[in-house]
Amino acid sequence: MVHGICERCGKPGDIVHHKIPIDESNVNDPSITLSVSNLELLCHSCHNKEHKLSVDSVREDVVFDESGNLIQKES
Ligand SMILES: [Zn+2]
Ligand SMILES: [Zn+2]
Repeated sequence: MVHGICERCGKPGDIVHHKIPIDESNVNDPSITLSVSNLELLCHSCHNKEHKLSVDSVREDVVFDESGNLIQKES
């Protein structure tokens, strides 16, 4: 981790992003929350991109129909 510089684009970075997302199951695990290998320094725009990607990829309640519209999955 390079201090002060976004690891993606080289602009000034000010957000510490966790590569493995923190949730209830690991929030008390220092090897996840404090491990340098799980941290990445990002700027705002790279951090937004990162979260948009990961949020989209874990959405399981919505799917794309054949015309490309996002629809709610029927349960
Ligand atoms: Zn960046
Ligand atoms: Zn993050």
